[in-house]
Amino acid sequence: MDNLVTPQQDCARSNDSLKTEIKNKLPAPVVLQRDAHTLSRSNISEPALKVLYRLKKSDYDAYLVGGGVRDLLLDRHPKDFDIVTNALPEDAIQLFRNSRLIGRRFRLVHVHFGDEIIEVATFRGHEEQSEDEELKNRHTRDGMLIRDNVFGTIEEDAWRRDFTINALYYNIQDFTVIDYTGGLEDLKNRLIRIIGDPGQRYREDPVRMLRAARFAAKLGFNIEPNTEAPIYQLADRLSQVPPARLFEEVLKLFLSGHAVATYDLLRKYTLFDNLFPYTASLLKPEHPASADTDALIRLGLRNTDERIAQGKPVTPAFLFAIMLWRPMQNLARENIANGMRPLPAHQQAGADVIAQQTDFISLPKRFAMQTREIWSLQARLDNRSGKRAYRLLALPRFRAGYDFLLLRAHSVEPDLLPLGDWWTEFQEANDATRAAMLKKIHSPRRRGRRPRKMR
Ligand code: ATP
Ligand code: MG
Repeated sequence: MDNLVTPQQDCARSNDSLKTEIKNKLPAPVVLQRDAHTLSRSNISEPALKVLYRLKKSDYDAYLVGGGVRDLLLDRHPKDFDIVTNALPEDAIQLFRNSRLIGRRFRLVHVHFGDEIIEVATFRGHEEQSEDEELKNRHTRDGMLIRDNVFGTIEEDAWRRDFTINALYYNIQDFTVIDYTGGLEDLKNRLIRIIGDPGQRYREDPVRMLRAARFAAKLGFNIEPNTEAPIYQLADRLSQVPPARLFEEVLKLFLSGHAVATYDLLRKYTLFDNLFPYTASLLKPEHPASADTDALIRLGLRNTDERIAQGKPVTPAFLFAIMLWRPMQNLARENIANGMRPLPAHQQAGADVIAQQTDFISLPKRFAMQTREIWSLQARLDNRSGKRAYRLLALPRFRAGYDFLLLRAHSVEPDLLPLGDWWTEFQEANDATRAAMLKKIHSPRRRGRRPRKMR
């Protein structure tokens, strides 16, 4: 509050001069007229335009902001459209039939148009920065940061955003683009620059460090040196972020089509160590498993990026199967060394590794189960005799298990290539060929009369 004056001082000057003084502290915004930028309404989704126009018709200010403006100015296809307005959430919600109030920390309106959701936020005011533990605890206990619910002006809203390139506003009133924080210049120079004091902004919300890496990877931008510097020291603050929020962030990091580039940056900044600590410990250069661990993850992420580029579905279960495979294997080996039989040793290791990981990043139960199914299929895919191959093929998780087998084979376990090829052929074959294939693997086994050991 040190930028405010005392009541005595206040008496000495008019309200207007005070306002001017505060305003003078902030640089004047850059305003690009409609013919001075490339953002065209034809690239904004129909629903987003409808929301903007409805707000405008009701005499509210309405702007497109965030990734929508950033990506359109870069000639990219925005993932979603975010809108800000001076309408309060309870007023905005009245304007749209299919809308809902959401959020506890900061109330927003979600307007639903079929599959597309347009997020409408009210300008946010200044957030008080405080390292005061008592204050923090009080807020945490309430589960809500009351001070966050303070609404403000567009200018205050701009300075509260994370990066300059994310704080550009497209005004539906006159089609201008407004820049309070230098985002246009940074967009031109391909720089991720945090708004305000970097250390303070990261302490306030450590997820911003992940977002810096995500945008740098996605856009191929550099992280500006002052924005980059404090990350190494503050990376461990991620432990303060609720695991459920980190789950959402991890999906954005690894399932948005730029997973390999994101992985490299997360490792460079030691952010990865604070997301997947067990995996990171195996990735340390001195660890004998580091090259293999990295190779499997890298190929897994490359495949994920390719699938997304081809419009194929991806699942968090497979991502976690990739990330935690090696820690699970190590633990299973320990279990076996301690006298457990291979099957329960692997099952126990799977359960334990996921339980340990979820202290950091939560993994909804249904995905955790699928991850474990993908792992348990690794041993089962080897055992194809009799009707087993058909039963395996019919399992809902077969395809993911098979994909994972191929991933292992093509990254660090070339011994598995023949088994992978066999399954590829079996899936594509007709009934007669399948029967012939099964006969071939069936007979030597019978002669041997010894059950195959698990790998
Ligand atoms: P994309 O949607 O492509 O992932 P985005 O920039 O639109 O990128 P969102 O998560 O949709 O990201 O957030 C919309 C906007 O809200 C951001 O552009 C930014 O201005 C603001 N924002 C989001 N998260 C934060 C945060 N943790 N701190 C400050 N501002 C944020
Ligand atoms: Mg967005």
